[in-house]
Amino acid sequence: MFNFKTLWGRMIDLVFPKQCVKCGKYDSYLCKHCKKLEIQLVAEQFCHVCRFPLNRQQELHESCRVQTDLDRVFVCVRYSKLVEKILKEVKYHYHFDFVYLICDLMLEVLDIKFLYNSYLVPIPLYKSKVKKRGFNQAELIAIELEKRIGKKVGCQVQNLVLRNRNTKTQVGMSREERTQNLQDVFEYVDDLRSKMVSRGRRVVIVDDVMTTGTTLEECARVLKSQGFESVCALVFARG
Ligand SMILES: [Zn+2]
Ligand SMILES: [Zn+2]
Repeated sequence: MFNFKTLWGRMIDLVFPKQCVKCGKYDSYLCKHCKKLEIQLVAEQFCHVCRFPLNRQQELHESCRVQTDLDRVFVCVRYSKLVEKILKEVKYHYHFDFVYLICDLMLEVLDIKFLYNSYLVPIPLYKSKVKKRGFNQAELIAIELEKRIGKKVGCQVQNLVLRNRNTKTQVGMSREERTQNLQDVFEYVDDLRSKMVSRGRRVVIVDDVMTTGTTLEECARVLKSQGFESVCALVFARG
């Protein structure tokens, strides 16, 4: 059957052929060989509070629940040099096709039921940064996920939180310094659209990388204080 979309895709591929991000081999953004060697998909999920493994159904250890506003964090791949390269290609070289690759990898490990009837909330950047960069990579990932599975599981992107200032990079900071650095940095978007959203629907915060989780925690705290009952997070990579 004639499919214009596929044909168009093929023409684009002819002009800008897909190339492996690691070895440069043509045909895909990441060849099978490099994927096998360099990408570690997260098969077993860990508790984001104590870092001990969870069993399949578990979202979080009961004893850890009191220490967090996040009901669950789902991590898709381990952070590595290659993961860093993929993210840099998107962030600094405007290679947006790698967002498809990121979502391919995410959907390979993610049980999509996790996003059932949820709002996907990208971790926001400060507006001057969006202006400079032109986009928010977390939002690009969320949009692509909605495009692929939104209809199937009923998830949709909602920018419910904004960042009201720039923050210093968190690398090398103690836990206390990090919390201080992020104090009041996120604000709930209080407009008509956000007023209409259902507090009973699950919120899934989306981000590209998780380091210590303080950013996700702070964002979750703001959403829980707005009455959202279930707030989880979905991250592409964790260090
Ligand atoms: Zn390769
Ligand atoms: Zn735990």
